[in-house]
Amino acid sequence: MLQKLDFQNPFTTELPADGELENYNRLVEHACYSWVTPSPVAQPQLIAYSTEMAACFQLTEHDCRAESFAQLFAGNQLPPTIKPYATCYGGHQFGSWAGQLGDGRAINLGEIIDRSGTPWTLQLKGAGPTPYSRHADGRAVLRSSIREFLCSEAMAHLGIPTTRALSLIATGDAVARDMLYNGNTQMEPGAIVCRTAPSFTRFGQFQLFSKRNDVELLKTFTDYTINHDFPHLGAPSQAIYLQWFQEVVDTTIDLMVHWARVGFVHGVMNTDNMSILGLTLDYGPYGWLDDFNPDWTPNTTDRQTRRYRFGKQGEVAGWNLARLAESLIPLIGSKEPLQAILNHYRSTYHARWSAMMMQKLGLQNSIEGDQELIESLQSVLCLTEIDMTLFYRALAKIESHIPLEQQTHTMLMQSIHEALYQPEQITTKVETAICAWLTRYIERLKQQPLHDVARKIAMNQINPKFILRNYLTQQAIDAAYQGDYSMIETLLQAMRNPYDEQPQQQSLAQKRPDWAKHRVGCSMLSCSS
Ligand code: AMP
Ligand code: MG
Repeated sequence: MLQKLDFQNPFTTELPADGELENYNRLVEHACYSWVTPSPVAQPQLIAYSTEMAACFQLTEHDCRAESFAQLFAGNQLPPTIKPYATCYGGHQFGSWAGQLGDGRAINLGEIIDRSGTPWTLQLKGAGPTPYSRHADGRAVLRSSIREFLCSEAMAHLGIPTTRALSLIATGDAVARDMLYNGNTQMEPGAIVCRTAPSFTRFGQFQLFSKRNDVELLKTFTDYTINHDFPHLGAPSQAIYLQWFQEVVDTTIDLMVHWARVGFVHGVMNTDNMSILGLTLDYGPYGWLDDFNPDWTPNTTDRQTRRYRFGKQGEVAGWNLARLAESLIPLIGSKEPLQAILNHYRSTYHARWSAMMMQKLGLQNSIEGDQELIESLQSVLCLTEIDMTLFYRALAKIESHIPLEQQTHTMLMQSIHEALYQPEQITTKVETAICAWLTRYIERLKQQPLHDVARKIAMNQINPKFILRNYLTQQAIDAAYQGDYSMIETLLQAMRNPYDEQPQQQSLAQKRPDWAKHRVGCSMLSCSS
């Protein structure tokens, strides 16, 4: 197996290292990374792996199930070609500059280039302390590792830019965690996810080097990033820096629009969790909308201000990009050209969000009134608890050729019935508002030539039937804590084709059951992981 893995080390070869080799907490200056070795774990055991990522590295099932695979990807036995390191970055956390953060529990193994030429950095999350651990233990618990493993793969299958996960390995060691930060510390099983991405670079690197006034390092790192992660831009120069920033803005907007499309809430959009490639990065207390609610966040750590709630993610990403822009001023010489790019953020985001909403609704060409139809839907969906995912799948089935005078309120409500959480509690006023919107929608459908069958096919390609519902992942976690890993596999399998009907997986496409509405792990998560 090892012979197949040809590790390259451009990050450590081309960027300056921390000269200190001892592994203790410290501020690391004038360096992009520190050499650090994973701390061994007691008994690595493979829980799950991604066949797609394995195939990328030409690893077979036999390879992945071998003892040596678990030993390698738990960090116990590394071949001499691997020179592990942890990267140095900073970040704004919940709106305040936090200074140096860095890979506190993620240790990079190096890079493998796949057959298509894509470089993949492999990184072990939970592999033990690093110079950036800041008094934490460098470990990860099984529940959060299951969440990261499943969600990164689910995201990828949904067609959303994301870091990936090659493997999920139980360490055999226990980890102490106060799950809700309420003084209730418990021992939990530990795990390590091998994460992969073309690059794990965050906004936080540029910020840290810039805040420290280390312009030389800022330039070195930016040039490396452009050469390595944005080679199509050509040789770095001032003009290219701006083109590059524009691309970061664009990919970040695209990511926000994707999240809005499927109802994903990241939960901790701190600038250290913002990928320079516009990937979904650092799966912590994330969640998926069941009932549509722009104010919802699963992160109890953010309960007071809800800074990172669903409906705010686009705006927050703009704020984060402004922090990135600030850190690039020393490279550009002035703020204005960066500001000029940022000035288009709001309108571009809104235009792309609207285009995405048109697709969600199966509308072809924008005509007058569409914007209002889209905006009013946002309020209609809040009138009662309506499952966002099931709602759009139900809309796809609406038959627009039936004359409107034949569509009674009962029929209209029936068409979205499966998406309603409390149909019996719906007042006449709410029913009237929902039916008014549905009627307008059907009228609008009648104005386009697209046949219902073709519209349904198109809508079902953008509106998933399967999302990684919070309660399903929690059920997989509950079973795993009893030693049964089978549901992880079941979810992974269903999420491979999230837009297909998959009738045999129907039970995984149901709305959230009542018991999960206020359960820890389902709707309430903290940063403790
Ligand atoms: P996060 O909120 O997960 O993005 O983490 C913020 C910072 O805390 C990053 O620098 C992480 O590496 C670090 N961190 C989080 N959990 C741990 C842990 N258990 N041990 C060491 N560092 C951690
Ligand atoms: Mg993070």
